[in-house]
Amino acid sequence: MDLNFKDFEVWFVTGSQHLYGEAALQQVGEDARRIAQSLNERPEIPVTVVYKPVMTDGDSIRRLILEANVDERCIGLILWMHTFSPARMWIGGLSALRKPYLHFHTQYYRDIPWDTIDMDYMNLHQSAHGDREFGFINTRMRKNRKIVVGHWEDPQALEALGAWTRVAAAWQDGQGAKIARFGDNMRDVAVTEGDKVAAQIQFGYVVNGYSLSDLTAYVDAVTEAQVKALLEEYEGSYALTERVRPGGEFREYLEESARIEAGLRAFLQEGGFKGFTTSFEDLTGLRQLPGLAVQRLMKAGYGFGAEGDWKTAALLRAMKVMAHGLEGGTSFMEDYVYHLDPAGSRILGAHMLEVCESLAKDKPVLDVQPLSIGGKENPARLIFTAPKGPGICASLIDLGNRFRMVVNEVEVVDPPADLPKLPVARVLWDPKPNLKVAAEAWILAGGAHHSVFTQALGSQYVEDYCEIAGIEYVLINEETEIRQLKQELRLGEIYYHLAKGI
Ligand code: MN
Repeated sequence: MDLNFKDFEVWFVTGSQHLYGEAALQQVGEDARRIAQSLNERPEIPVTVVYKPVMTDGDSIRRLILEANVDERCIGLILWMHTFSPARMWIGGLSALRKPYLHFHTQYYRDIPWDTIDMDYMNLHQSAHGDREFGFINTRMRKNRKIVVGHWEDPQALEALGAWTRVAAAWQDGQGAKIARFGDNMRDVAVTEGDKVAAQIQFGYVVNGYSLSDLTAYVDAVTEAQVKALLEEYEGSYALTERVRPGGEFREYLEESARIEAGLRAFLQEGGFKGFTTSFEDLTGLRQLPGLAVQRLMKAGYGFGAEGDWKTAALLRAMKVMAHGLEGGTSFMEDYVYHLDPAGSRILGAHMLEVCESLAKDKPVLDVQPLSIGGKENPARLIFTAPKGPGICASLIDLGNRFRMVVNEVEVVDPPADLPKLPVARVLWDPKPNLKVAAEAWILAGGAHHSVFTQALGSQYVEDYCEIAGIEYVLINEETEIRQLKQELRLGEIYYHLAKGI
């Protein structure tokens, strides 16, 4: 993925006031600079942390916020009140702030110096109450923000800070991001529909439709040399079945798949797109459903949604950015088949073809097999299994008056057999708290059959994203209980209706 987190800046801003005198303010500045520098060097925080001068009055706060709003590199702010900073000073700035922000409730020294603590020490280390004053005005102004509590060297606090900076980077990446739709929705499907204008207002990304002929023009322009180069890359990366090797009965279908991949990639690159959708009901001019091509483009960082699912395509892109450089894959996914054995109920996640290669536990098998729907030639696909361990499924739905995110925490398990006849990539998981409750909760919440599945991110990342976007977030995990969830959903109906105003 063509992305360097260090290109993104988070500004570290410290609040104080003039009351303390120059010497104290200088000390506040030195302490803040040291914290900012330390955060910038920590491996948990992938972005650049930039120290900004200590803020002591409303005018300079507002000026700094206006600068942050227009600075393309600045993806968000970390705010901290080392001393007391009367919060009315912050109203002008916070009213104007358009970037995500994190309130870091920390203190310069971790421990109280029991033997030496005096009134000077007390006057300088005031975040315990300074940050509460600041917290109040944020709550009074109904501001969405992330709060992290802990010493600035505390591993848990650093992990939370780092995760939030990844989400803020994904948010910035989404502003103006272009998603291409080839064809429209799969006919009559409800959940993949939605209000693209509302999504653009809420999330910042742009979804536009393209004719298949726009794409086939690129596919037709692909040279034999490009196809050959891709085939060599496949041979170096995957275990090819007999029938797709040179001279094999399906070799020509693999060649066609390579042609589609090169054309699709060129279309996306030239247009500056960050995600795309396909629809197997509209493949005019393409000889096969893009399977392998989509799997490889997802691995390269593109968002994808099948059957016209632009919401999942954009969400996948965002989660790919959050997960960049972390261990574990992230993919478009569909709940496919159940194993309803009471001794261990499971969900088998897969799709017709399009599961991202980043999930593969071992070297994927590259094969061509009949698709049995769609009436096109046999498509190429990578076949693999995801490794065991924790994961999440995230689904974004449009409820008509708002968006809701539904997340389920899951545990991926090893399939009890090799599934030798299953011709697609697969993930077998145990949804939390168990299949019965998880599926009932998911269905009550209106979660889609499509989702973004990841083994790189915990649910907190998606929660932070929803907080920045200002949308409803429903978590299904070990603690979920149906009666309580129903109540939460009903409260959400009221809250989001009122919070939106007219
Ligand atoms: Mn589907």
